[in-house]
Amino acid sequence: MTAAAFKDTPKEVYFGNEVLNRVSFLREDNEFIQSSLFHPKLCILKNGSNQGSIEEEADGGLGYTGTKAVIESGLLENLPSWRSALETWFHDNKHRDKSLRDEGKPVFLFMGILDESIGLNLKSLKFLETSEETYLDHQGRYQGIAYYAVDLTRLKGLRKEIVKFVNDSINALQSTEASPGDNGIYFTHSRKHYLGFKKREASLFSQGAMFFSWLDTNKFCPGCGLPSIPIHAGGKLLCTSEAKSEDDDETYKCPVKSARVSNASFPRTDMAVISIITNEDRSKVLLSLNKRYAIARMYTCTAGFMEPAESVEVATRREIWEETGVVCDDIRIVNTQPWPFPQNLMIGCMGIVKFNNKNEIIHLGHDNELEDARWFDVEFVRKLVYPDEVTETEKETFNPENIIIPMKESIAHTLIKMVVDEANHKSKL
Ligand SMILES: [Zn+2]
Repeated sequence: MTAAAFKDTPKEVYFGNEVLNRVSFLREDNEFIQSSLFHPKLCILKNGSNQGSIEEEADGGLGYTGTKAVIESGLLENLPSWRSALETWFHDNKHRDKSLRDEGKPVFLFMGILDESIGLNLKSLKFLETSEETYLDHQGRYQGIAYYAVDLTRLKGLRKEIVKFVNDSINALQSTEASPGDNGIYFTHSRKHYLGFKKREASLFSQGAMFFSWLDTNKFCPGCGLPSIPIHAGGKLLCTSEAKSEDDDETYKCPVKSARVSNASFPRTDMAVISIITNEDRSKVLLSLNKRYAIARMYTCTAGFMEPAESVEVATRREIWEETGVVCDDIRIVNTQPWPFPQNLMIGCMGIVKFNNKNEIIHLGHDNELEDARWFDVEFVRKLVYPDEVTETEKETFNPENIIIPMKESIAHTLIKMVVDEANHKSKL
């Protein structure tokens, strides 16, 4: 493998860019939570879990409150029910109140600070604004704009109030009487929009969606079955059981609560391996057609969840063999992508198959997940990756089955494109 081989692996990853400094150690600092939650520069994303909804602006971005230019002083000063929701959550979070996520209460998540480490120019911000304090300053060490996400999935009334208030504010400013839909202020399902976000918005969305999916599906302690509550501003789950062990009043009965390090209480990411399969000179690419995508004719990479006690390389080799029957001993890790449906990390690999009239033979009968798998000539795949390069005459004939590949935001597309580019590079050597 030459040094040039992986040079085109993108640094920007849809759903996985670093947008905020997460300052995760501040999640349990109540003084910080208080000053950031009620700060006028606060940004809140209305970001539900996977089944939830988001407020969308007309330009495809996520909706914010607080900094919205159209609302003087933000929702906090104008909407009493919103202020009350924030105050209740702040109190419950600080005191680890057992009612923290009772019916009718929104769940908040502290996401991080937009600060200089991520590219915010505090000096220019100070210069442009006229008010004395324009950004959050915690102990003179952490400065920027705090971001929270809130899950309002089950709070229809509050959602309606927010939409009405924002819409009325826009109409007042513009002397119009437009509907919320016309002004682009509405809650909508994330699944409809998840590929239309700007890169920055996509990463904020995935952070919120993955945390909320975890919170939403872990309402009871896995050790003792009693309710669990999100503490540390949404970053950790706490079992509410207080029962102590009979023979040792220092330890809790609940095995999760007693454990020194309890992974059940921290956010989970499920790892899946995804691989592009090729041969040594990159002239061939193996793509497979999952039964789910058979009608769309979408051929893609091989993928599957990692199992306990597997290395990435072993899991990838296993997935390739189970799905396609192909034997592949040369596995290279290329890049990774968070995938918020619901909370996965895709580990992108390249599997290089040594052709010997045996290793490369496709057999779909092991786990029967695929409709088809085929070795394609790299030149054909190149035309799918770079449709602009296809000539008018070729367009009519090169793809009689109307085969497509995954969208460019996905890691599968990145991996396919990488092999095509490597093949091009090799052919020029
Ligand atoms: Zn428990």
